[in-house]
Amino acid sequence: MQIRCSNEQCHAAVDRMFSGYECPLCGDLLEISYEPLGLLPEELKRVWLERRLSNERVDRSGVWRFRELLPDYAPYDVVTMQEGNTPVLEGRLSADHAGLARLRFKHLGWNPTACFKDLGMTVAVTEAKHRGVRIVACASTGNTAGSMAAFAARAGITARVYLPKGKVSRAKLAQALDYGAEIVEIDGNFDDALSTLTQQRDEEVYFLNSINPFRIEGQKTAVFELMEQLSWNPPDYIVLPAGNLGNTSAFGKALRELFDAGMIAKIPHLVSVQASGANAFVRTFHEGGESLHVVSQPSTRATAICIGAPRSWRKATKAIRFTQGFVLDAPDDEILAAKRMIGRDGIGCEPASAATLAGIRRLVGAGRIHPGANVVAILTGHVLKDTDPIASTASTDHTRTPAYTAN
Ligand SMILES: *Cc1c(COP(=O)(O)O)cnc(C)c1O
Ligand SMILES: [Zn+2]
Repeated sequence: MQIRCSNEQCHAAVDRMFSGYECPLCGDLLEISYEPLGLLPEELKRVWLERRLSNERVDRSGVWRFRELLPDYAPYDVVTMQEGNTPVLEGRLSADHAGLARLRFKHLGWNPTACFKDLGMTVAVTEAKHRGVRIVACASTGNTAGSMAAFAARAGITARVYLPKGKVSRAKLAQALDYGAEIVEIDGNFDDALSTLTQQRDEEVYFLNSINPFRIEGQKTAVFELMEQLSWNPPDYIVLPAGNLGNTSAFGKALRELFDAGMIAKIPHLVSVQASGANAFVRTFHEGGESLHVVSQPSTRATAICIGAPRSWRKATKAIRFTQGFVLDAPDDEILAAKRMIGRDGIGCEPASAATLAGIRRLVGAGRIHPGANVVAILTGHVLKDTDPIASTASTDHTRTPAYTAN
């Protein structure tokens, strides 16, 4: 395993214990690379499948089960809560809503802290423990904070979270507090909180935003697990919501690694969906992807993706190009309508996750996705993460007067 610059022209290698998150030569983000695997694809698939029957702690994790494509640690060093192992669920009403014959959701909100960030945090906090750090920190729209705080607590490391004041759902703030995080409230938005944090060059503090390449490694495993659940028959499209673009980057890296290892024969198109009020990546990508188009005042009720200057835009651009995917946005009313439909399917998710269904509906409507296509949408967070938009948008026509009232 090596830590390298993610820019192919530079590709500088940095020391294993390098504590920065940008290439010292060109300033681009870092990424982790591996030597080619000495295993045949069918052998690796069998090893991964057999671990599902094991009672070993690291085998029970839906992240560490795939450890041949992760950084290497001694098993007792691994900080895990059996994250991953999330279901693929059929969404009938949601498929109708999108204009598809069939639509499946992979629900990453069924993780220990109820969002996909756990997949990255198990690796990044394990790395923090391996490095002997005493304080980990992140800026967050809420979910990164809760996830980091939980895993840090398990590792006995102090968690310090920077949150945009008044812009984080109460449930998410409560989670971070419950897991014992130190909270720093920032006047401004997520981007201001992240800038505040990254400008402090405190050697004692290890950053765990998705600019940390170890986070990306863990998040990759959502794709590994999905492919295994689909018996290694990739769908035509994988659709995910996009904020800071760590997950889009991770999914692109996962697909490249599986393809290079001969594990999948075809590459699904990655589709990143943003909220219209926070669509920096849409603008960046459609302007050629050479420089970041910042949205200075991002605004959306999908607070988890309310980000104006996504840091991983270069990695994400590569992911979309490599998979010949799409980048688009959807307005809040369509996101909330999609969220309602996912709820009616008995699944439920937080608003940001529903951007996927809103985006698919737009693409099918525009003839860019065929109604018969095999589509998997990634739900990133649990319905209980952010319930405020539900009461304000739920229609009352499903409310019934109770037939029986106890007195
Ligand atoms: C973090 C988050 C996102 C966005 O992921 P990025 O990697 O920042 O693009 C989407 N949905 C939810 C629920 C999240 O917590
Ligand atoms: Zn570089």
